[in-house]
Amino acid sequence: MFDSLQERFGEVLKGLRGQARLTEDNIKDTLREVRMALLEADVALPVVRGFVERVRERALGADVTKSLTPGQVLIKIVNDELTALMGESNEGLALNVQPPAVILMAGLQGSGKTTTTGKLARFLKERQGKKVMVVSTDVYRPAAIDQLESVAKDVGVDCFPSTSDQQPTAIAEGAVAAAKKQFKDVLIVDTAGRLAIDEAMMAEIQALEASLSPAETLFVVDSMTGQDAAKTAKAFHDALPLTGVILTKADGDARGGAALSIREVTGKPIKFLGTGERSTALEPFHPDRVASRILG
Ligand code: GDP
Repeated sequence: MFDSLQERFGEVLKGLRGQARLTEDNIKDTLREVRMALLEADVALPVVRGFVERVRERALGADVTKSLTPGQVLIKIVNDELTALMGESNEGLALNVQPPAVILMAGLQGSGKTTTTGKLARFLKERQGKKVMVVSTDVYRPAAIDQLESVAKDVGVDCFPSTSDQQPTAIAEGAVAAAKKQFKDVLIVDTAGRLAIDEAMMAEIQALEASLSPAETLFVVDSMTGQDAAKTAKAFHDALPLTGVILTKADGDARGGAALSIREVTGKPIKFLGTGERSTALEPFHPDRVASRILG
């Protein structure tokens, strides 16, 4: 992720290296390039505007000491602001509730919800020693139920059986009771996705949220959809009390617009990145490390 942005920022900031001072003119030129680079990375326009404005204000007020060149000063400001944009440090899952802690997975069809449910189950089981159960409430697509069963088998966690003639909330409530009985620490609830946001889909997931009171409600989104990802995130955020975001397919996304837009648009942290199709391809998201990587 961020390959092209890294390249562009490298060029932009290189231009400042030879300058002795930060002037209004060279700040202006640099910020024009920064703005272009962010737009090319498919960052949402209001996010670009806010970002450039914050960098401008700080750069104009910057005290350039003898030990730092103007380029270094601006790089530091851009680095700080990129980190702040994505939420400073990693935020983990807050699962410290009466078990089973429920994780509700929300998102559009094809975003990677089911794959990510498996990855997360594996992560919690292997990295945190949790006893995990998963369940599918996608009663519209029997294939989705089969897919989750196969994913669960693959990562070695129990899958609560569901059939397409049941109500999603009834399935989820049955799964909670079973998870409790079997002393599971975590229950991950995979939900139905649609190709676009619609009222029926939102009403259904709102009903699930209300009946489950999840410890985490995670929005799963394909990072390759760029600023559309931020728009979809906003729609889900308006309908549901999201607690975090998982950005999938980061391995195929060279631009990074979604990663840079989502936090600002929803106020919710990106907690994980999906970095491939395999069940191990899930990484905690660290905004500070990502910002440093963008700046090379
Ligand atoms: P769902 O409809 O939201 O449940 O989506 P799926 O879990 O079925 O995933 C849709 C497709 O995206 C599948 O082919 C997955 O293998 C693929 N996928 C999911 N996450 C990732 C990821 O992080 N990287 C890559 N390259 N592919 C992914």
